[in-house]
Amino acid sequence: MKYISTRSDKYKVDSAEAIKTGIAPDGGLFVPEEIPQVALGEIEGFASLSYAELAKKILSLYLTDYTDEELSDCVAGAYTSAKFESDEIAPLHKLDGKASVLELWHGPTCAFKDMALQILPHFLVKAIKKTGEDRDVIILVATSGDTGKAALEGFKDVKNTKIQVFYPVCGVSKIQKLQMATQDGSNVSVISVDGNFDDAQTGVKKIFGNEEYINEASDLGYVFSSANSINWGRLVPQIVYYFYAYSRLVKTGEIKCGDKINIVVPTGNFGNILAAYYAKEMGLCVDKLICASNQNNVLTDFIKTGVYDKNRKFETTISPSMDILISSNLERLLFHMSGKNFRLVKEYMTSLSENGKYSVDKDIFDKISSVFRAGYCDDEETKATIKSTFEKYNYTIDTHTAVAKNVYDKYTKETGDTTKTVIASTANPYKFNKAVLEAISDGELPEGEFELIDLLHQISGLDVPKSLAGLKSKFIRFNTTCAKDNLWSETKKFLTK
Ligand SMILES: *Cc1c(COP(=O)(O)O)cnc(C)c1O
Repeated sequence: MKYISTRSDKYKVDSAEAIKTGIAPDGGLFVPEEIPQVALGEIEGFASLSYAELAKKILSLYLTDYTDEELSDCVAGAYTSAKFESDEIAPLHKLDGKASVLELWHGPTCAFKDMALQILPHFLVKAIKKTGEDRDVIILVATSGDTGKAALEGFKDVKNTKIQVFYPVCGVSKIQKLQMATQDGSNVSVISVDGNFDDAQTGVKKIFGNEEYINEASDLGYVFSSANSINWGRLVPQIVYYFYAYSRLVKTGEIKCGDKINIVVPTGNFGNILAAYYAKEMGLCVDKLICASNQNNVLTDFIKTGVYDKNRKFETTISPSMDILISSNLERLLFHMSGKNFRLVKEYMTSLSENGKYSVDKDIFDKISSVFRAGYCDDEETKATIKSTFEKYNYTIDTHTAVAKNVYDKYTKETGDTTKTVIASTANPYKFNKAVLEAISDGELPEGEFELIDLLHQISGLDVPKSLAGLKSKFIRFNTTCAKDNLWSETKKFLTK
């Protein structure tokens, strides 16, 4: 299997190269040249596989330049009970006769980013060797919260790598800050930036794009890489859990193998739902993919009209991981839906960067419409959905999952569709405890984070994840703040240490 760029026909690389470089040199994203197929008979057999076994099967279809042993190593290092607080890794929780919730948040940082970021470092370390690289890798991450922590947990103590995370000093939640400031591992560094997320992101991009810094790092024995969500190595592990969810529905007799399901995904950068699209194209029996957004509803409008227009107010919501106006992974969908028309994709992306806007051709719009549905809700609706789900099913969901549930409810009401549905659940409710408590508690809320956690435990009965409970007794290891144009000196310090 080779990988090509969404913006030209100049490159044809192995998966190791695509994973190592992250983004194609022409600015496009790497996509598989062909989407591999899985026969129905084989899908039937998935019901007897564990998550790790299934992961290896799916990954081997895409990472064909990795040996069997290499893939076994990657999977064994990621999807274990040492890392995930559930033997199932991604358990499916049945709500009622129609809908089940796929819990993707049992990993070390309590958000679905762990599903990919636990395995990406293993892919990357092997990619480095396979491509003949003799330097170590330095991963730089600018984060608004979830990605930074998940990347730190994924890369900590992984040999031949170092990771440095920059977060905006006032731009992350208290829990997120604590999660990062107490990070352990011998190869990690965490710095807060005196600025907002854009400042941190711009700072990191400036390092990646600076010839002099690249050479200096190289002299010290390092090559830069990135762990952000456009890396193919982050997308491919996400395909696995849609096959897994389907196989569990078959296993429990909810559906017969061959029946179609719908999938609802709370969406930001379009990575998670794109993975569901790949699963469908591979042969998983999926009817509709339902894209759920918060008030930053640029994708809802796009899927309904074919016009992508980011020229609108950025809303700060209680589902912050979906506060996004440019959904980078949509570029991959456009490539596939246009019949691999890289010229057209490039035109759209140029228009997006120059005018903040593009509209797709009618045949692309028709194709998208045949698969995707979309909807959105605001913060009040999100909280109302957390409350109604709690009251009706005695089940607590976080704000992001609630957006998906709300959009699913609207969809079924509007269409009368009774297809069995999987709702992707992307964060542990404890990670957004304040907003969740505002939805399900009548009393006044305490101030402190750990008091909020205790209260949520009392009301919901949900187990407090060990990684969050343990924060209380961990010491603050990182408390350096740097000026927003001083990131490189921090990186250099870290590399010479
Ligand atoms: C990152 C994230 C999302 C959005 O996922 P995309 O792949 O960017 O669409 C949704 N929910 C949570 C909790 C996240 O961390």
